[in-house]
Amino acid sequence: MNIIVQKYGGSSVADKEKLELICNKIIKEKNKNNDVVVVVSAQGKTTNNLIAKAEDYTNNNEFISKKDLDFLLSTGEMQTASLLSLMLNSKGVKAVCLTGAQAGIITDSNFGNAKIIDVVTSNLISYIEDNYIVIVTGFQGMDKLGNITTFGRGGSDLSAVALAGALNAKKCEIYSDIDGIYSADPKVIPNSKLLKEISFDEMLEASSAGAKVLHNRSVNLAKECNIEISAKNTFRNSRGSKVRKNIKEDFDIHFITKKDDISKICIVGPMMLSNREAISKIFKIAHDENIEVYMISFSELAINIIVDTKKSKLFMEKLHEELIEKK
Ligand code: ASP
Ligand code: MG
Repeated sequence: MNIIVQKYGGSSVADKEKLELICNKIIKEKNKNNDVVVVVSAQGKTTNNLIAKAEDYTNNNEFISKKDLDFLLSTGEMQTASLLSLMLNSKGVKAVCLTGAQAGIITDSNFGNAKIIDVVTSNLISYIEDNYIVIVTGFQGMDKLGNITTFGRGGSDLSAVALAGALNAKKCEIYSDIDGIYSADPKVIPNSKLLKEISFDEMLEASSAGAKVLHNRSVNLAKECNIEISAKNTFRNSRGSKVRKNIKEDFDIHFITKKDDISKICIVGPMMLSNREAISKIFKIAHDENIEVYMISFSELAINIIVDTKKSKLFMEKLHEELIEKK
């Protein structure tokens, strides 16, 4: 099999005209005698709108069920996948749409931030062998109980890399509305340079530090599976950028990136470095509340932690409760 995985991001699939264009790209690839597996994001701002809707309908209740939210958010990608498959079929092209679950993506039950634990490719392979173009919903899988799970914002990249890895794909192409990977966010720094290639490790560092072009976990998985990623523009031919294993010594600076909407929390007390009890409580709270710790520093008198601003109040409350009120 000559499998090519193509992933199209939210702005690339935002409307009918854009999907029309993508149909042509897919057909072109198929006509080159390739087996095409397409991963799609939700159209445009769909996911944001669904989140806002859930917040509205629950009056911003922080105890909102993450399982139900994943169920809702997964529908964004399902719309795109079905529309694309319907369009291809209406042109006489054999295509099928599959949810992450139907594509065999098995995850843990960490709703909203689920980890892939396996990809069972039998269903996908039988469609590919039957010469179908397979369209898979990005951003989602299924836990062992059959619940729909999602991977976190931007998680469709992860679906693409996981499928490319599991199917031993020849190529994994990630399409968006920019030409590839730049030395800085081109929307912030107009003079940023398009990078021809970048190593997995540097890309991982940059995506974890706020570069939005690729989901950090997708880069990590690509590194694990040694899947080269090509980041390209959906709407025009550009050479794009490759993320791959580094094989040369190079001392150039490749990226400058920033992370927005983060807060620094400072926990002050004597002998913080040796306060094992406090340190373990801090990490336990971050784990239990699903709070990502972007950076942490220790000194004799303080522990500073950087987290998402959205989670900072909850984190502070829990820290205060555990480290001060319960004493
Ligand atoms: N639709 C999801 C999001 O907006 C996943 C993705 O686009 O990759 O975060
Ligand atoms: Mg993205």
